[in-house]
Amino acid sequence: MQKRIFSGAQPTGNVHLGNYLGALRNWVKLQHEYESFFCIVNLHAITLPQDPELLKQKTRDLARIYLAVGIDPDVSTVFVQSDVPEHAELTWVLNCVSRMSELERMTQFKDKARKQQENVSVGLFDYPVLMAADILLYQTDLVPVGDDQKQHLELTRDLAIRFNRDFGQTFTVPDAYIPKVGARIMSLSDPSKKMSKSDDDPHGCVLLMDDADTIQRKFKRAVTDSGTEIRFDPARPAITNLLEIFHLITNRPVEDVEAHFAGKGYAQLKGELADVTVEFLLPIQRSVQEISEERLDEILTFGREKARVIAKQTLQDVFDRTGLTGTYHAR
Ligand code: ATP
Ligand code: MG
Repeated sequence: MQKRIFSGAQPTGNVHLGNYLGALRNWVKLQHEYESFFCIVNLHAITLPQDPELLKQKTRDLARIYLAVGIDPDVSTVFVQSDVPEHAELTWVLNCVSRMSELERMTQFKDKARKQQENVSVGLFDYPVLMAADILLYQTDLVPVGDDQKQHLELTRDLAIRFNRDFGQTFTVPDAYIPKVGARIMSLSDPSKKMSKSDDDPHGCVLLMDDADTIQRKFKRAVTDSGTEIRFDPARPAITNLLEIFHLITNRPVEDVEAHFAGKGYAQLKGELADVTVEFLLPIQRSVQEISEERLDEILTFGREKARVIAKQTLQDVFDRTGLTGTYHAR
């Protein structure tokens, strides 16, 4: 049987190069080897305040991006999380096997809660359990994500193992797929922070939909390290980040990239990086425009139906094992 992958992104802000290089790019590659489920995780998005109209728009925009970067809806299942109610239902059951203490350790919660100050929702705290439900619902083998999701993946595994131990074999225990390069693309304005959709600083992220001038400007003002040498070096995170982006976008080997920039200045690197990025994004931006509303509806409806078949099966199993016997069969 073909192994399965599941992954998703939030329809918050705008998709950036970090999302693409750390996650989406690998989804596109893996979709032909695995049975693939790619979700627009709008239930995750509302863990922080969202404008309802904007959220609707962003949900469709994100679906368009999935398709434009190369997710093939004839091969992969593309759907919206809130269209499949089993995500929320499984979350409740998993909440009851999750420990407060393990959620309190999650660094994403601590970071995001700090920014929210006093208005931290229970949803934000529960985010990792919802993510575990997303993954476990599909009996997922592999989860291609960026490095920042490693801790959440560990929790997902722990919850699956605990549930299986307490209630009998129910869930596949998934593995994380975190790429060797590109798993943590850093902010252009602060190379100690990851590029993030929710970052307040608009200069830190290059967006997939940015126009050529904006891309040039953002790379131009990117922070650099002291010194002049252009090479991959963990002690020089800003330049290494720029080189990593260049390497991934051009598919040129690391040694090749270093040789190419040997003896050149930072301005040259930034200029060339902006050029290759603009060129790379142009066809993606064009395809985004080409997907009609009708086609998108069709894809998301088809995706929802395919996803629900598996989601319902898993939830039925979970209900049976936990003694939640109502009339779920009849639904
Ligand atoms: P937010 O700030 O709202 O959490 P985000 O930029 O982290 O937004 P998500 O939708 O949470 O985006 O994540 C989508 C996918 O992109 C995940 O697999 C995540 O690990 C990956 N990802 C996010 N940021 C980066 C980054 N800077 N480098 C590599 N991968 C990333
Ligand atoms: Mg995130």
